[in-house]
Amino acid sequence: MGHSLENLKPLIRCPVCQKKYDPSKVVLLSEDDRKTVLHIACESCGISSLVFVSLGKMGAVSFGMLTDLGRDEVRSFYGGEPVSADDALAAHSFLKGFRGGAKECFENKC
Ligand SMILES: [Zn+2]
Repeated sequence: MGHSLENLKPLIRCPVCQKKYDPSKVVLLSEDDRKTVLHIACESCGISSLVFVSLGKMGAVSFGMLTDLGRDEVRSFYGGEPVSADDALAAHSFLKGFRGGAKECFENKC
């Protein structure tokens, strides 16, 4: 497939300080053909976030959601309950109405 995590990593920035993440800090939580969920702890501002990356006709679109779950917590959280329907619905409804790119998304702090 042409959209491995390696291709997505350059898209991913901290939603708070816009710093690019060190790829080694990115924790892959779930991945399927169309959606990837990552957990990232920013070393610059200390904020943890979940990043949803969805693939559509216009290419990859990503957005971040702040979380207070740490890296270890989020692993067990996702291990116990794979991406919930609510998560998927939230991501879907957001992406459906969103027309910008990842940069605009993060600038709007959405
Ligand atoms: Zn940051």
